[in-house]
Amino acid sequence: MAYKTVNPYTNELVKSYPDATSTEIEAALSTGNSLYKKWRDEPVNSRAVILHEIADRLRENEDELAKIATTDMGKLYAESKGEVELCAIIADYYADNGAEMLKPTPLSSRNTGDAEILHQATGILMMVEPWNFPYYQIMRVFAPNFMVGNPMILKHASNTPGSAAAFEKIVKDAGAPEGSLTNLFASYDQVADIIADPRVQGVALTGSKRGGQSVAETAAKSLKKNSMELGGSDAFVVLSDADVDKAVDLAWRVRIYNAGQVCTSDKRFIVADNLYDEFLKKLKANFEKLVPGDPMDPKTTIAPMNSKRAKEKLQGQIDKAVAGGAKVYYGNQPIDLPGQFIQPTILTDIAPDNPEFYDEMFGPVAQVFKVSSDQEAIDLANNSELGLGGIVVSADSQHGKAVAEKIETGMVFVNSFLVSLPELPFGGVKGSGYGREMSQLGLTAFTNEKLVVTAQEPDWNNPAGGLAVFK
Ligand code: NAP
Repeated sequence: MAYKTVNPYTNELVKSYPDATSTEIEAALSTGNSLYKKWRDEPVNSRAVILHEIADRLRENEDELAKIATTDMGKLYAESKGEVELCAIIADYYADNGAEMLKPTPLSSRNTGDAEILHQATGILMMVEPWNFPYYQIMRVFAPNFMVGNPMILKHASNTPGSAAAFEKIVKDAGAPEGSLTNLFASYDQVADIIADPRVQGVALTGSKRGGQSVAETAAKSLKKNSMELGGSDAFVVLSDADVDKAVDLAWRVRIYNAGQVCTSDKRFIVADNLYDEFLKKLKANFEKLVPGDPMDPKTTIAPMNSKRAKEKLQGQIDKAVAGGAKVYYGNQPIDLPGQFIQPTILTDIAPDNPEFYDEMFGPVAQVFKVSSDQEAIDLANNSELGLGGIVVSADSQHGKAVAEKIETGMVFVNSFLVSLPELPFGGVKGSGYGREMSQLGLTAFTNEKLVVTAQEPDWNNPAGGLAVFK
């Protein structure tokens, strides 16, 4: 049984889940396909009531859902509760706006007919999701595609099966028809078979570069449209005119939230030389105050990492960076608790030839760099194989915006947390993947953008036929 909850704070095996059977997979495919056909004949708005009900049930069950997520992957209980609320916000947003956003788009054309693009469902969507936001990652895909009318099959991370089952139950209890979202504890081979099935028309993956490459390759073999939301090594750029206290107050929070296991958590802090020493000193002061402990305890401010494997991987990366010339400015000491803790750590002097320079450090480790100009900051921010997000801090928001425009990522925020909301597109460029989730872009990621032209006057005898357009 590959799917297990092992509490990362106590290291106890909480529950194992049975592997998906071929009968369950076939049932998910045939139920999903029948639902797709049924939904095609129903107005989009008919699904809004259920999506609102899902939001209500998320809120009603927030404490229980938060506990399940924290037990699965160790994040602070308060953060888990915030995640459940964000899911409810996303569900409400698409319930309120989905039908309007999916209305046909009229086109103005030299043709004498009425041309419009219909945004239609395409069929079952396979979603492959990671453990770091065990509900939100599902909801980013689920809410828009539920309104579109694409039934979904979920393969969640093998260490967050409790959250996967709980999400599926909320959807079912809210009255969504069978097949709307079917969670399967599927193996990689089973996922590949599902993707190849002709009833499946799209694949949405959020995860690592390794996982993305493998699943994208499988999807390409059967020409299935796919979106890839992969890792990030985002830059947090502190410009020379920034207020260093405000910059640090943002910096430590973005790095420590979710024990640093956020794709858009800034991992590289690129600081103007006039502020560098003070920034480091104040970042360290904030890291020193963090209290490791039970993530269910409100006094705990730094959670364990999600698994032993994740902790060992990050520790290996820190060791490799240090062996390659990086200096430990703060941290990297063992924490005397049974859970999978990494002490918040600050690394400096990471040169481009350091073996970890281009790697994503997925945990509470801040890499801090000193630069002497805006251009140097931009060049360093862009010297990355990844391109997900980023933050620019400046006393002058127009100055910050001018720098933000030059950063090669999918999202940049100026003087703000990088927030994820249903109306904003989420996604990256370069090694961070392709496609967007949420907003209008995410809503239509797996629609058939179908052109329908209706002639105003019947045009049966056009001698040039379809070539008329080239006259
Ligand atoms: P991962 O190993 O790629 O796992 C993510 C999901 O993909 C899991 O469900 C995993 O299943 C599955 N998976 C991996 N390889 C697969 C394959 N060959 N076939 C089918 N399924 C496969 O990612 P992770 O390391 O756990 O997650 C952290 C990464 O996700 C980080 O790089 C982070 O930056 C990125 N991330 C990106 C975003 C974004 O929106 N861009 C958001 C959050 C996280 P198993 O668990 O069974 O292996």
